[in-house]
Amino acid sequence: MTNYDYLIVGAGLFGAVFAHEAKKAGKSCLVIDKRNHKGGNIFCEEVDGIHVHKYGAHIFHTDNKEVWNYVNSFVEFNRYTNSPVAYHNGKLYNLPFNMNTFYQLWGVTTPTEAKAKIEEQRAEYAHITQPANLEEQALTLCGKDIYERLIKGYTEKQWGRKATELPAFIIRRLPFRFTFDNNYFNDAYQGIPIGGYNALTDALLDGIEVRLNTDFFKEKAELGHVANKILFTGCIDEFFGYRCGHLEYRSLRFEEKRLDIENFQGNAVINYTGTDVPYTRVIEHKHFEYGKQPHTVVTYEYPDSFAPGKEPYYPVNDSKNNSVYEEYRKLARQHAANTLFGGRLAQYTYSDMDDTVASALELFKKENS
Ligand code: FAD
Ligand code: UDP
Repeated sequence: MTNYDYLIVGAGLFGAVFAHEAKKAGKSCLVIDKRNHKGGNIFCEEVDGIHVHKYGAHIFHTDNKEVWNYVNSFVEFNRYTNSPVAYHNGKLYNLPFNMNTFYQLWGVTTPTEAKAKIEEQRAEYAHITQPANLEEQALTLCGKDIYERLIKGYTEKQWGRKATELPAFIIRRLPFRFTFDNNYFNDAYQGIPIGGYNALTDALLDGIEVRLNTDFFKEKAELGHVANKILFTGCIDEFFGYRCGHLEYRSLRFEEKRLDIENFQGNAVINYTGTDVPYTRVIEHKHFEYGKQPHTVVTYEYPDSFAPGKEPYYPVNDSKNNSVYEEYRKLARQHAANTLFGGRLAQYTYSDMDDTVASALELFKKENS
């Protein structure tokens, strides 16, 4: 017996936006999630008044005015601007690569001096005309100093492979900024929801039935028939019983500490770009929201291999995995009459939150056109 217009598998951002639009259009929805909370990877846990980003630091940034207005219609955003700092061998460097970084690296004080220095650094690798791997690509783009201090260690830790064994395409472009501007993003709009990301999720899912601790695959016999249509936002290879093979991911492990000090590192995000420590980032959550608490919470982020039971964080979009995904996409098209697929896991893509919102809005529009 069908009770709902839509069964939405996954209470993450994609599922929540789709459910909200469906409800607004008069459709009935049941949202399920196998986790014990809503929000998917944007979920925050409140620890002594601090919103802790449980699945990695999330900063909302976008150039898409429609998406920005959309999320702001649910929750107000603060003026947080992401300006991570990189730690390497006892020294700190501003990111992204800008005049502050060039001054810290070489003591250059003008854009002309900085450009000349980068050209000099690149010239050493002018003989590499067709970079065969990430290391060669980075050296030809920015030279030895930036590569060795700010890229090599971080990238090798992040992907668990030597830079000489990573494909060049990962860093086809390395943006240099010849101004003293530490804003990590170029987008027009940026911020953190006031009250944390759960305020956004709760507003999107307001008045919609949500069942937590409910795994679609464990209750498929019943759930497969409760709605006219299913929107699936989980792993696409799992949906099809891995019949075209397993898609590869890179995972992360988070180590959280509550400290009885007011300010641990003076910034929300510090990247550790050397191989002297195994983690890539340390997040101090209170700084996303200008917290004034006498205590603090920090999270050490360790890249990790992926295996069943671990969280699939980063898709490995190399040609092998992309062609496996293509097979699943063909299968998904054959199911289009009663099952929709959306979100980062079902589309096997690394999409930021703004793209996720845009893509959920687009899917709903398409459904109703
Ligand atoms: P998810 O949030 O993963 O939601 C999918 C949900 O489906 C999950 O809750 C899962 O439990 C549920 N599910 C899966 N399978 C089943 C099943 N069988 N039964 C029931 N439920 C199921 N974006 C930015 O814009 N800025 C950032 O700073 C940023 N930082 C990031 C940092 C990290 C470490 C990562 C990994 C991502 C980051 N992102 C960032 C991207 C952002 O997390 C995504 O755009 C967004 O969360 C995707 O939402 P989603 O709904 O597609 O997926
Ligand atoms: N990166 C790097 N040094 C840094 C930060 C990033 O070399 O300090 C590289 C690394 O290869 C990483 C990629 O840039 O995988 C993308 O990093 P970004 O911070 O944009 O992505 P995120 O992991 O936050 O999605």
